[in-house]
Parts: sequence; structure tokens; C-alpha cells
Amino acid sequence: MAAPTRIRIDDPRPGVRRVTLARPEAKNAQDRAMLDQLDEAFAQADHDPDVRVIVLAAEGDDFSSGHDLQDFKFLGEYSPDEHRVYEDEVFLQRCWKWRNLRKPTIAQVQGRTIASGLMLIWPCDLIIASEDATFSDPVAGFGVNGHEFFVHAWELGPRKAKELLFRGTPITAEEAHRLGMVNHVVRRERLEEVTLDIAAEIADRSPTGVQLAKASVNASLDAQGLPDAVREAYFIHHLGHTTCRAVTGYSIDLAAVAKEVERARARAAAGTR
Ligand code: ZN
Repeated sequence: MAAPTRIRIDDPRPGVRRVTLARPEAKNAQDRAMLDQLDEAFAQADHDPDVRVIVLAAEGDDFSSGHDLQDFKFLGEYSPDEHRVYEDEVFLQRCWKWRNLRKPTIAQVQGRTIASGLMLIWPCDLIIASEDATFSDPVAGFGVNGHEFFVHAWELGPRKAKELLFRGTPITAEEAHRLGMVNHVVRRERLEEVTLDIAAEIADRSPTGVQLAKASVNASLDAQGLPDAVREAYFIHHLGHTTCRAVTGYSIDLAAVAKEVERARARAAAGTR
């Protein structure tokens, strides 16, 4: 790999490969370069015989603010078909690849995870969050169903998934833990240590057994229909983009984005993130 500009890669414990989002000045917004570099780093780790566990972490106060809308602005010029194919290749299929990596993956999450930020942590096997972590997907307010890897109901249960999508407000780490979306909630200063301890513990167990256990749990979800549900939701997502394009001339409702940013600022000012 050419020297990555959007991520950092290290091996902090024996058998543990850590990939860290390294764009804190932009709240780790995902541009094309970041997604390409993540994809390559995960593939390398999955093939490297010295790696047993993969950790996904993030620099800075927030895990990820989602897609970098400036970098993906060209999608607004695409035809509906080109847009559907692009998001399938660059967003959706990659989430599937990451979700189906042979090796176990652990997301280490602090601060805000917004919209497609969730598309980085939900494909992971375990999620360790700090107390300040919050999770939201406000994009239903912009005229689409939710972000492209639509596993919301599987992660949160149907009723909470609907509230997350309808209201656009964040859920806390504690609530995500209660819902089973997060494995452990720890103090911010202990987040890295706890994550690496768990990663090292798993790395010290039978890689065959762990990988087969992962494949089996994933197969259970697949047998319940998760891949079909995600596929259908993806086409519904593009019904949203196409409708927005017809009504506003752009693939999402940009006026609604501005309104959502204002609401988020008001929440932050009120101390409710
Ligand atoms: Zn989209």
C-alpha cells in the first residue's frame, strides 16, 4: 500500500492489527481516499498470517461524522443508475466485505458516530464504546430511508431503529449497550486499554475456533434473512435518492441537511450532544 493519508496502521499487541481513522480535523469524515485505504488495510490484515484480530479505532474526539459530503458532491451530477452502482460498489459491497472478513474485528468508539459512521462499526464483530459515545443516523430527514448498509433493525431492534430514523436524535452508549448494540461501555481514558486487552485475549485463543464461531453467528443472521433485507433496503434507499432528485434537483434534500446541522448545534449548545 502507498503510505496511507487517512488512516494509521500499527500492531499494538501480538497478533493484533489496529487500523485508526486519522482525519480528526474533519471529525473523521469518510472521503473516497479513506474508504479505499480502509478497504485495503482490512484485506491485508485478513490475509496476513501474523494477524489474528483487527481493531478499528479513531483519532480525536469523534469516531466519524459520516460521509464527506463535499468529496461525494459529484454524485449529485450522476444519473440515478450511475449513483446506484457507485454507492453499491463503494459503500454497500465494502460493508459486506468487512462484515465477512474471516478474522474477528473490534470497533473502539468514542464521541459521535453519525450516519455512515455506523457503516464502519456495524460490520465489526464487537463494539467497545466510551461513556461519551453517541450514535445517530439523521439521513431520513434528508429524504432517504437511512444510510446504505441498512441493518438498523438488526442492531437496535425494530422499535428503537424506527425512533432513531424518525427523530434523527442520537442514542447514548448506555442505551446502545442496553439494546445489545455495544458490548462494553468504559470510561474514555480506559477505552484503548480495555479494547486492546479484549483483542489480545481473543488473539491468544484458537484462530480456527474463533473464525468458525464468527462465521457461524454470521450464518445464523444470514439464515434469518439479513442479506435479503439489506438488499431490498438498498433499492428503497435509491428510491429516496431518485425522489429527492425529482423534487429538489439533488440526490438528498440539502436544505434539510442545513436544518439538521442547526439542530445538532442547538443540542451541543444545550449540552445534550
Ligand atoms: Zn445514498
